[in-house]
Amino acid sequence: MSDPVTGPVPVLAVVGRPNVGKSTLVNRILGRREAVVEDIPGVTRDRVSYDAEWNGRAFTVVDTGGWDPDARGLAERIAAQAEIAVSLADATLFVVDATVGITDADEEVVKILRKSGKPVVLAANKVDDERTEAEAYGLWNLGLGEPYPVSALHGRGSGDLLDAVLAVLPEPPPVTEKELGGPRRVAIVGRPNVGKSSLLNKLAGEERVVVDNVAGTTVDPVDELVELGGRTWRFVDTAGIRKRVKEASGHEYYAWLRTSTAIERSEVCVLVLDGQESIAEQDVRILQAVRESGRALVIAFNKWDLVDEERRYYLDREIERDLVQVQWAPRINITARTGWHIDRLVPAIDKALEGWETRISTGALNSFLGRLVAEHPHPVRSGKQPKVLFGTQVSTAPPTFVLFTSGKLDAGYERYIERRLREEFGFVGTPIVINVKPRE
Ligand code: GDP
Ligand code: GDP
Repeated sequence: MSDPVTGPVPVLAVVGRPNVGKSTLVNRILGRREAVVEDIPGVTRDRVSYDAEWNGRAFTVVDTGGWDPDARGLAERIAAQAEIAVSLADATLFVVDATVGITDADEEVVKILRKSGKPVVLAANKVDDERTEAEAYGLWNLGLGEPYPVSALHGRGSGDLLDAVLAVLPEPPPVTEKELGGPRRVAIVGRPNVGKSSLLNKLAGEERVVVDNVAGTTVDPVDELVELGGRTWRFVDTAGIRKRVKEASGHEYYAWLRTSTAIERSEVCVLVLDGQESIAEQDVRILQAVRESGRALVIAFNKWDLVDEERRYYLDREIERDLVQVQWAPRINITARTGWHIDRLVPAIDKALEGWETRISTGALNSFLGRLVAEHPHPVRSGKQPKVLFGTQVSTAPPTFVLFTSGKLDAGYERYIERRLREEFGFVGTPIVINVKPRE
């Protein structure tokens, strides 16, 4: 059996008014209770996307409900939420409270959902028993097709609902774009004003690709195809709805939602930092999200025209302190405004994608592990010495390993293994996942 190669999986956005039961439904879909963090008013929620699976098919659920419930302008916020959802997701799960029925805000959402032309599944939530089922039928009037009666709270009807969702989600590409022959997906991420749009504009120049000319690709309206180095690249989530995001109250949350989703949809992320400014908490937060999603990563220090000797001294220290978790990421210094060094971006991306898709044969891996254990055995813990017995790389993109051991490994020893793996095999530009399976 060949190993599964994981690429980006289809994205389902969950949309609806506050209190209709979106979070409860997302938890139901995920099958774990603690998955979605309770809203804390005024606090931006970090996690917005979750890995889900139904009938053996993987997809990403984006919970768009994390706004500040105290903010004003409900209708606007709902519209912004729906617009973001439909632009970033492959399909939308629209949740309505069947016990309340259709509201004006719901009608607003429907307009946006229909305009997008993307598939929508309508959940009539809070149908806890047969008696309330009749109320779900009133939702036919929304014109979105069949309402699926469901009780997110008790699970009633959730299987049928998920079947309907799977039916409209595109087949997940179980392989990377490379293997599909389509353009690689790149997300340019970073704080506001670091120069993301300047970079994209410089890259695109006059080479913006006419979408229709690229055979076999469907391009989201928010994506942009750009020709670089003789190849076509797909820059995800670059155009369009920024204005709406800025206008919506709680726009910081939306900005984060978009960044998270862009990362999720990409194969490789280019984190743009402003070279003349200190590395900020927000930068580190984005890095964390890239690592957790297991995407390849390139770090670009922009505005290099403004970086002088003194700044450079401090920047080196900041890199040591704040980027220690991503030492493996290729770093380039650029000036997007003039185009200086932006020709270094494609080679860096290529390198990161190569690391991301590196596969080590089981033979090579185990001879390496044998040497590693002999040279540097695990320390003895309460009279026992855990040993790495056997390892295998179960997937690429990112490289993921399973190690069978004779006991639990110290965190420090796991880090040591990762460090040695990188020394031995490279893995430039990619996170590595190591799952340890102790055989007790
Ligand atoms: P969200 O704001 O749309 O994410 O809504 P929540 O998931 O936070 O749910 C709002 C309230 O509705 C909570 O008190 C839930 O317990 C309740 N709720 C959610 N789903 C159901 C359901 O299927 N039946 C009933 N009776 N209550 C539900
Ligand atoms: P975004 O919000 O990340 O998309 O940032 P923009 O591309 O809109 O750039 C924000 C500001 O930084 C604009 O005024 C740009 O002209 C400026 N800028 C972008 N790249 C550079 C650069 O390389 N050097 C200098 N000096 N300014 C830049």
